[in-house]
Amino acid sequence: MTYQVATLRGDGIGPEIVDEAVKALRAAQEVVPGLDLEFTFLAAGADHYAAHAEVAPDSTWQALHEADAILMGSMGHPDIRMPDGTEVQGHFIVNVRKKLHLYAGVRPIKFYPGARGVNPAQKDVDLVLVRESTEGLFASFGGGAEIEDEVYSDTMIVTRRGTERVARYAFGLARARSGRPLDGARTVTCVDKANIFRSLAFFRKVFDEVAAEHGDIHSDHALVDSFSMLLMQHPERYDVLVTENMFGDILSDLAAALVGGLGLAPSGDIGDRHAMFQPAHGSAPDIAGQDRANPVATIVSARMMLDWLAQRHPDDAALPAAADLVERAVVETMEAGDRTVDLGGSLTCSGFGDAVAATVRRLGAGTAA
Ligand code: ATP
Repeated sequence: MTYQVATLRGDGIGPEIVDEAVKALRAAQEVVPGLDLEFTFLAAGADHYAAHAEVAPDSTWQALHEADAILMGSMGHPDIRMPDGTEVQGHFIVNVRKKLHLYAGVRPIKFYPGARGVNPAQKDVDLVLVRESTEGLFASFGGGAEIEDEVYSDTMIVTRRGTERVARYAFGLARARSGRPLDGARTVTCVDKANIFRSLAFFRKVFDEVAAEHGDIHSDHALVDSFSMLLMQHPERYDVLVTENMFGDILSDLAAALVGGLGLAPSGDIGDRHAMFQPAHGSAPDIAGQDRANPVATIVSARMMLDWLAQRHPDDAALPAAADLVERAVVETMEAGDRTVDLGGSLTCSGFGDAVAATVRRLGAGTAA
């Protein structure tokens, strides 16, 4: 089967890192029999807004609905603003999540060879943060109260349906994993502020109801403020985390620091029918156009896309084979000491991408046919 991959290169380093992810996938197509991905490159983002006064054309929205999966770089530029003063990327990404019902923001946090976390002694990190992605503090995005030049508000919205579906996703994920590094216990931790906000006390209550349906998986709670400290001190205690949208936005950047920074943190925005994969970081305008971004987060996001397609198409053996190949190629390339400058290496973004693609071909040649 041919899978249509709607591909958004975006702004800043976006085009550079997406090109390396596509390079890795095309290398996989050369060596994995039956892997058939068709990339359609779509317009959207800050540069598009500057030229056309729209975040994305209608044709992009249409293509996103029709695609089998979406691969995205990063978007936005601090100098290109909407009339309300906000940057462009939120208007695109938040709308994609809402329109396509991408409710689970999945951010795996684990080590790749040669990466150094904020605490170099801490190596037991293997967790997944699941960020509720359609409501919470982002629910009123672009709306809220606006009274002359005096008052603005954004409102936290927590619904039963929204909380149930993201909690169920988190428990399903925990079941498929092998537990927290500390003791192998499959665990879902609800990170909230249930002691202060009614909306988040409700989030915890609904989480507990879903936890009761999953008696084989351990569940617990943490308050987001003290949790931020505990995550840095004892990441080995955590397996799957589930949290409100804004908390998840902040915590995923914090968690990335545990394993070597934003250049290594992939993500998937996943719903029941659609999904979009992109690095957890932004468009890094400070290093854009210099061929020095780290494309690992984007390449690993593309690997997550293959995994997600494999779950939806269990009869297609090419998909899990390609996912495994791309993951092994990133690990082997980094093990060999090939790294970008943010990790103390000397490779350019495209040089690292070439090395990964070559490793995909080499590993694939050993397994194909
Ligand atoms: P946004 O709000 O759009 O997510 P941000 O404010 O989180 O963006 P980023 O664009 O993610 O900011 O960049 C934060 C810092 O991390 C910058 O100094 C940037 O150069 C660095 N950075 C981000 N991504 C990468 C990458 N892939 N490789 C190397 N450095 C990166």
